[in-house]
Amino acid sequence: MAIYKGPTEDVLFLLDDVLRIGRYDNLPGFTDAAPDIRRAILEEASKFCEQVLTPLNRTGDAEGCARHPDGRVTTPNGFKEAFRQYGDGGWMGISAPVEFGGQGLPETLTVAVNEMMTSANMAFSMYAGLTQGALTALIVHGTPEQKATYVPKMVAGRWTGTMNLTEPHCGTDLGLLRTRATPQGDGSYRLTGSKIFISGGEHDLSENIVHLVLARIEGAQPGIRGVSLFVVPKILPAADGSLGRRNSVACGAIEEKMGIHGNATCVMNYDGATGWLVGEENRGINAMFTMMNGARLAVGVQGLALSEVAYQNAAAYAKDRLQGRALTGARFPDKVADPIIVHPDVRRALMTIRAFNESARALVLWTALQGDIAHRSPDDKARQAADDHMGLFTPVIKGVLTDIGFANTVVAQQVYGGHGYIAEHGMEQFVRDSRIAMMYEGTNGIQALDLVGRKLPKDGGRASQAFFGEVAAYVKAKSADEAMKRYVAPLAGALGDLQRATMWLAQNAPAAPDNAGAAATDYMHLFGLVALGYMWCRIAEAAQAKLSNGDGDAERMKAKLVTARFFMERMLPESGTHLARIQSGAASVMELPADEF
Ligand SMILES: Cc1cc2nc3c(=O)[nH]c(=O)nc-3n(C[C@H](O)[C@H](O)[C@H](O)COP(=O)(O)OP(=O)(O)OC[C@H]3O[C@@H](n4cnc5c(N)ncnc54)[C@H](O)[C@@H]3O)c2cc1C
Repeated sequence: MAIYKGPTEDVLFLLDDVLRIGRYDNLPGFTDAAPDIRRAILEEASKFCEQVLTPLNRTGDAEGCARHPDGRVTTPNGFKEAFRQYGDGGWMGISAPVEFGGQGLPETLTVAVNEMMTSANMAFSMYAGLTQGALTALIVHGTPEQKATYVPKMVAGRWTGTMNLTEPHCGTDLGLLRTRATPQGDGSYRLTGSKIFISGGEHDLSENIVHLVLARIEGAQPGIRGVSLFVVPKILPAADGSLGRRNSVACGAIEEKMGIHGNATCVMNYDGATGWLVGEENRGINAMFTMMNGARLAVGVQGLALSEVAYQNAAAYAKDRLQGRALTGARFPDKVADPIIVHPDVRRALMTIRAFNESARALVLWTALQGDIAHRSPDDKARQAADDHMGLFTPVIKGVLTDIGFANTVVAQQVYGGHGYIAEHGMEQFVRDSRIAMMYEGTNGIQALDLVGRKLPKDGGRASQAFFGEVAAYVKAKSADEAMKRYVAPLAGALGDLQRATMWLAQNAPAAPDNAGAAATDYMHLFGLVALGYMWCRIAEAAQAKLSNGDGDAERMKAKLVTARFFMERMLPESGTHLARIQSGAASVMELPADEF
């Protein structure tokens, strides 16, 4: 069976030493998350993952969800009890406002905990993750009555949430959606239409399911500007908040799919279902974006989380599996062969994953912290800068972390040889489960277009220029530092590639937009490399400081420095390849006529 241990020490190092979270004690909720509380929460989360969620990952995958003739959907054995424990443990509402029953702690902590839950059991964690997204959207856009009705029960884990966007003929292009909403004259609407691929659309984990549904009010204009957001509960709440009658929404089928078998992916049929408008008419996509932006970051974390659990298993296997001898002579002459960890190619694989995981975690936590600043800082300028960061990094985290996260599950699987292909060790499940993260919440191609087409030029390039400026200033400040040179010099080179790519796009895309479309995925990955490289510099700086202060675990800090070097020498140079591809333009991509394919 696969193993998993939460990366508590790494998260604490990143929060305390790299990001210096203590600086933000003036923000609401931060003093309540003092260092001992942070440690206790992470250790408890890790224990829950190891003892409850990890054992259910394999069985949940094998068993899957079942739809019964009466439309009920049951989740795999053990999920219901685990979800009850999750709710009772307060995990849903770590960062939810206290007035709704949450703990009001920084979102950064929730993100760290969610990484663990996802590593341990991605299918299970999705029920909770979507609920957190839905309750946040209701808090931001709901009426006081909607908040009072739904949010406390969702925070308690008694009711769960979903997001209903996709229809058979409309995925990326949501302006095509057909689900319609007819006003009833009493403030409610009747919703009719069919949604597909709805994660957690029906299940047996909670007393009620709160669907957030995009639909078009009768008479509204075609396209995305005619789309509104509705809350449509599976069971209608009675006036006193208790459960009333069943609403006309039902699961018509669940999908057979490649992975995340423990998560029910549902066809949801709305047959005159009662719902209420959330936010303004025809501004549904804006309201849904509150949920989608959170969900995009959460999906990026899925990429990291699966890469992490795959790494932990591959590293353990590499120390155990005996095959061949080290190129430099037997390391364990008393054994029939050396463990495969002695082979440079196996180490290359493990180092590749590790160098991604540790910097990706830093990037995720840095961005989550910016989210907290954007929502909690009293300072307008700080809030705006943090919001800019969030907007810019959301597509990067979603697209880059899930592309590389999936690739890393394959690299980890390879460490097992043929034993990675069979089900016994759980590696093929990580590959299958992680694959969807590149597709949902907007495919990664769409994330890349969002970055290049919207986020880069937004506000005259304010967000991207702020990031480039921050990295350039860091490079300048550290380039004379002997200990930092080996990390900072490669970062300066990659930043130059990114700036050249940005300039090339500014000069070559406006008149020929296919140049931007053909460059987008490479640009997103080039951006991601620079961001991860910057994270490695900051990690190396903090590790050196700890080593010179004689503070903490020296071996772990030395390992950070080696991993930083590996990243700079073997991963960051890919920036040049991305730049060359971007500068080649769209011609060879676009030239063949469609019927030639
Ligand atoms: C397991 C699973 C769970 C899901 N959960 C949910 C959920 O909970 N709620 C929900 O609403 N949806 C959910 N989805 C749907 C998911 O978000 C969509 O599948 C996804 O957004 C892509 O839409 P599509 O599949 O229709 O692909 P399409 O939009 O048909 O895209 C097909 C291909 O064309 C590309 N493409 C499309 N348009 C453009 C363009 N303008 N420029 C460049 N390339 C383009 C895409 O990148 C993609 O590669 C889920 C899907 C799955 C499989």
